[in-house]
Amino acid sequence: MKLNDNIQYLKGIGEKRAGLFHKLGIFTVGDLLYHLPRGFEDRTSTRDICDLVDGETVCVRGVLASGVRKFRARRGGWVVQTTLSDGTGVMRLTWFNASYIDKSLSDPEAEYMFYGKVIHRTMAAEMVNPVIEKLESEESKKMGVILPIYPATAGLNQRGIRDAVGRALEGLSEKIPEILPESVRARNDLMGIDEAIRLVHAPEDYDRFYEARRRLVFEEFLKLQLGVSTVKSIKKSRKAVVISDVKCIAEFARGLSFDLTNAQKKVINEIAADLKSGVPMNRLVQGDVGSGKTVVAAAAMFAVARSGCQSVMMAPTEILAEQHYNSLKGFFEPWGIKVAYLIGGQSAKERAENTELIESGEAAVVVGTHAVITDKVNFSNLALSITDEQHRFGVSQRSKLSAKGLNVHTLVMTATPIPRTLSLVIYGDLDISIIDELPPGRKPVKTLALTEAQRPRLYDFVLRELNRGRQAYFVCALVDESDAVEAKAAAEYVKKLSQGVLFGRSVGLLHGRMRTFEKDDVMRRFAAGEIEALVATTVVEVGVDVPNATIMVIENAERFGLSQLHQLRGRVGRGADQAYCVMFGNQKSGVAKERMQVMCETNDGFKISEKDLEIRGPGEFFGTRQHGLPEMKIGNFFTDMDILKQTQTEAEIILKSDPFLKAPEHRLLSKSITDTFAKAGDILN
Ligand code: ADP
Ligand code: MG
Repeated sequence: MKLNDNIQYLKGIGEKRAGLFHKLGIFTVGDLLYHLPRGFEDRTSTRDICDLVDGETVCVRGVLASGVRKFRARRGGWVVQTTLSDGTGVMRLTWFNASYIDKSLSDPEAEYMFYGKVIHRTMAAEMVNPVIEKLESEESKKMGVILPIYPATAGLNQRGIRDAVGRALEGLSEKIPEILPESVRARNDLMGIDEAIRLVHAPEDYDRFYEARRRLVFEEFLKLQLGVSTVKSIKKSRKAVVISDVKCIAEFARGLSFDLTNAQKKVINEIAADLKSGVPMNRLVQGDVGSGKTVVAAAAMFAVARSGCQSVMMAPTEILAEQHYNSLKGFFEPWGIKVAYLIGGQSAKERAENTELIESGEAAVVVGTHAVITDKVNFSNLALSITDEQHRFGVSQRSKLSAKGLNVHTLVMTATPIPRTLSLVIYGDLDISIIDELPPGRKPVKTLALTEAQRPRLYDFVLRELNRGRQAYFVCALVDESDAVEAKAAAEYVKKLSQGVLFGRSVGLLHGRMRTFEKDDVMRRFAAGEIEALVATTVVEVGVDVPNATIMVIENAERFGLSQLHQLRGRVGRGADQAYCVMFGNQKSGVAKERMQVMCETNDGFKISEKDLEIRGPGEFFGTRQHGLPEMKIGNFFTDMDILKQTQTEAEIILKSDPFLKAPEHRLLSKSITDTFAKAGDILN
């Protein structure tokens, strides 16, 4: 049997079963062997019934101590029950909705093994829906095994996959091809791929398993790291517009109503060096909420405009785009630089006017939502593309924006900082600048998690702040994914507030379902201070900047992720006044409680994102797919951080001698990288 053989070659897999495997992305024997376990049932050691502790997942073995009872539950499903004795005690076993289970328990003489979670009742231990294994042969009675658990699908259970994998390993007549050069394996003490794959499916013990797994994770991470790093080298081998006069940025800075922070200056210098280098800039600016990223971007746009070229800035929401439009107009109009504005909700006339400004090159600066990347928009001479709050966009949108010109300089900005080891992967194709300083005079936002009993006191406080001329946000979580429900919840919340605590005050409402002009109107009135309290859904999450707002009240805080809470809090504390963030929410869930605690403890975006990563796990944190990167099948960016670091060192060594992976010993590796990335999407194209 060969790796490229169809899985139907395996005994026991017919057309129908093959269809189930296809659902898991498995078509060939090779695919099957690369379908890696996501966990293990450890049956190497069984436990005595008398020692069982509530909540642990264990293996017990023994004989059935009573007959098997089968009856209908009140709700209708079949319940099967029996008891197990192992000489140290007796425990109860129950299966719900399992009408066939009794057939697997039909031998009163046999020894059985059960694997599941222990529930400790007052009288005895119990397992609900445990996995059953009848110990048939003498051999299986002697040996415990570590059983792999695979990602499965309806109709195809663990045993089905295990059997197939077992047959494939047995019948394979060739070795699994090695893509890592000998030198790489030696430097990092890695076993061969053939051995690793075999071991990971059928480990003898945990040490060997971890060794095998480490090899596989290493390969996976190394490919990813090399992939993104080669993208970077490829980009750097291109040519870009030379913006020769960057000194003019100093003039721009002198015209501002504030002094730039040192961190802003440092980042502007890094950008300026890119702009005049002749090599396309690919830079990520990370800066916590409120660190002043917009003006940094504007400084770059200024230099580009002075060279007679165009820049475009794309924002994820219309509210934010409008706000940027206003600030950019403020920055640029005094210099006679025209700003065009493009969003989805514009009238045909407005849109035509702005498109004309862009096409003729009359507008040197363009700002908008993803409306700026539609096919209908043609720039006259685009030299710089900027994506704000880049985590809100996919890679493909980012690259579409840059494709609006020829080898344009690219700047992406994000308020979601991540640890360096991770940004080297996720943003491995970019250079990174960090604004690690807030403008002077900012006080950390005081953050509290309150109980319902404390609500009246909060309301008193809110009223006092409003009376002092300050403003407040009230954010309610979207109850449902759909906009309609969200809108309704927000509307009801407004009603409650304006008939209660905010009676007689001017209250505005903002949610995703509103028409563009309505949203604009509300935001404008809030920014102008006409609206004292703004009730909103998370549409205010990113970027919105109204320095006079000092209070952020977040309802149902348990429904928000940590970085989302931090972003929301970032809407206040943008002026010189002390600001407050108050969270209400159900703290019953441990995770929700932990998130709120972290919020109360720190204002530091870096710390928050590390915590976020820890709590949520990297899968959700990144969605590598969202970044246009291949999905990790076995590696875990957080728990395997050490391996990730090792692969980064290794990638550096490899690329130093062979930047485009052209050497013969890297041929297989390079091909495998291209294949993996091709499956993921477009980052390599
Ligand atoms: P973010 O990094 O979150 O996008 P913004 O660019 O919206 O932050 O800036 C936040 C606020 O700080 C804005 O009102 C901006 O005008 C102001 N700001 C930016 N840089 C400075 C500075 N160096 N000194 C004082 N205020 C600044
Ligand atoms: Mg911003």
